[in-house]
Amino acid sequence: MNARPRPGFPVRLDRPAAAAARPALPAAQRSAPAALAPAAQPRPGRAAPTPQGLGLDSQAVRLAMVKKLAAQGITDARVLEAMGRIERHRFVDTALATQAYEDTSLPIGLGQTISKPGVVARMAELLLAGLDPRKGEPMGRVLEIGTGCGYQAAVLSLLVKEVYSIERLRGLHEKARENLRPLRLPNVHLLFGDGMAGFAQGAPYAGIIAAAGGEAVPQAWIEQLAVGGRLVAPVASAAGGAQALLVLDKTAAGVQHTLLEAVHFVPLKSGIA
Ligand code: SAH
Repeated sequence: MNARPRPGFPVRLDRPAAAAARPALPAAQRSAPAALAPAAQPRPGRAAPTPQGLGLDSQAVRLAMVKKLAAQGITDARVLEAMGRIERHRFVDTALATQAYEDTSLPIGLGQTISKPGVVARMAELLLAGLDPRKGEPMGRVLEIGTGCGYQAAVLSLLVKEVYSIERLRGLHEKARENLRPLRLPNVHLLFGDGMAGFAQGAPYAGIIAAAGGEAVPQAWIEQLAVGGRLVAPVASAAGGAQALLVLDKTAAGVQHTLLEAVHFVPLKSGIA
């Protein structure tokens, strides 16, 4: 899918072992105020980095992606920073790595896809804009349904206190574990199971985010959402199963639904495989 060559693509994104083993950002930096990590800024007066594998050069491509996200309307600086830090090319096959910073979904195996960066950023921004009243503090626990390759879980880990991410396909659950291991993100908890039932042990959640779309939001998710919490999920609207992004806010007075733009997510399925 989308395997056209990229003429003129300036960098190589193959993985040297040393870079793959590079530790994640120290925890102190994760809550740093909104700005890209210093190393992600272009360096004035220096020539464009020569192709030499990962590191600086992939940061330059990521920075370009972040600029595009901002141009598309993502305004939350925390989200832009997180998108600039997580190396998306580590979450896709090497053969697809040169496409990792385009705004496109890519196959991750077992018929599933990694979401487009634009959609990951949009959903994260919507999630953080929820009602959670603790101003100035990061959002608390978040449940993600559909770990896939683990990319969105990694992005969320820089934005909220704890991420519980559940996947129904064992092969992807294990792949996500492998992808995330070198990043050493202690606040990401990967779970294998049917996310239609949520994950009651971690409830209540300040936020719930789904990366797969069903016809309706399972009741368990609404029950496990804290009062003041926000859920962001694709749902199939009545007309022919086309999906739209749903934002659901849970208040003391009840739940409030807001339907937003059309989206295209893989289906939410029940059971494990
Ligand atoms: N957030 C992921 C996107 C993965 S695609 C990423 O960043 O890569 C959506 C995933 O949802 C698929 O892996 C699919 O297997 C999973 N999924 C679908 N229904 C599910 C369910 N009921 N419980 C848990 N995961 C589910």
